[in-house]
Amino acid sequence: MSKLSIRDIELRGKRVFVRVDFNVPLNENGEITDDTRIRQTLPTLAYALERGARLILASHLGRPKGKRNPKMSLSPVAIHLSNLVKHPVVFAADCIGSDAEGQALGLRDSEILLLENLRFHPEEEANDENFSRELARLADCYVNDAFGTAHRAHSSTVGMTKYFTQAAAGLLMEKELKYLAKTISKPEKPFVALLGGAKVSDKIEVIENLLPLVDSLLIGGAMAYTFLRAKGLSTGSSLVEVDKVDIAKKVLAAVEKNRYRLLLPVDHLISQKLDGSVPSRIVDGTSTPIPQGYMGVDIGPKTIELYQSEIAKAKTVVWNGPMGIFEVEPFAKGTLAMAQALASIHGTTIVGGGDSVAALARSGVESKISHVCTGGGASLEFLRGKKLPGIEVLTNI
Ligand code: AMP
Repeated sequence: MSKLSIRDIELRGKRVFVRVDFNVPLNENGEITDDTRIRQTLPTLAYALERGARLILASHLGRPKGKRNPKMSLSPVAIHLSNLVKHPVVFAADCIGSDAEGQALGLRDSEILLLENLRFHPEEEANDENFSRELARLADCYVNDAFGTAHRAHSSTVGMTKYFTQAAAGLLMEKELKYLAKTISKPEKPFVALLGGAKVSDKIEVIENLLPLVDSLLIGGAMAYTFLRAKGLSTGSSLVEVDKVDIAKKVLAAVEKNRYRLLLPVDHLISQKLDGSVPSRIVDGTSTPIPQGYMGVDIGPKTIELYQSEIAKAKTVVWNGPMGIFEVEPFAKGTLAMAQALASIHGTTIVGGGDSVAALARSGVESKISHVCTGGGASLEFLRGKKLPGIEVLTNI
């Protein structure tokens, strides 16, 4: 099922509320240190401005816990945005109330109003009825372009939509849906998933949801060790979630029963220290146990080769989570090799999660990836097979 897009609605002269994700990092002096999230929304804003929309932009920033906090004000974003769009951006010191309403009503065609941080009001995250109505009073149309918060049922993502006859996806949201929903429900085969990171507990449902859909699922990172422990192999001092070993055993039994293809590392880079200060060495995962006092910190060269060959055959690859402690240079090889492997295939590649995205940037291959997800948490929910409330409320077409 497709969702209504901003491209389907009449914008000229309309006050258009756009839920954006301007949750950007600020330094001590209130300066924006990374404006990627603002830039990613620019196509939607440019599209609406060219068509004479009167834009009302709303976002959260940080976790002010329902209280006004000047350090988490969106006012620096208003200035930054006006430089990017080369258009004045009016700032509303509160996201609801008579002043904001007056400013919204005063907008002329192709003008922009940015509202103050939605989360200065506890009612935003509580999806409060009155607060939702107040937000909705500001505008004639509703657009959501903030995929990163679509897994949250808040006033600005869910509650306020019922006051509009239609709720549309912005261009960025549309792109996320295209890649995540359409590609994953009808992937070009072979379809490979590559999962890593610290915890099995975070990704167990992703693994269970993806196993029947993929041709192979490759596991790396610390979570591989919980699976290896479940198989009865020695994991030395590697990070194992002891209370998840039973779940890992169940997954392995389901793999066996249904003949799913789940690959685990066949060799490991091991080290006695996590900071890379002592030499590390390779152990063959099947014949030599990881000795006590040593922990697995990256996938080994044979595993790199094995995973590279699986990825090279794929027409669709989804990747989330690093293969090792890639923040430490000597332990980054496996993760960076996977970034390169994805960049080399002729197919659809989808990458989510802050660490995997950082690895792409470090390898300089970001532009070779079909889609880099903007919301780590939201994309994991999607991969878990969960319905995202902020997407459910968008109008079906
Ligand atoms: P996550 O947030 O679950 O995606 O986990 C990301 C973190 O997992 C990164 O900070 C990595 O350093 C860490 N990680 C990956 N592999 C390992 C490993 N073998 N041992 C300990 N931590 C790891």
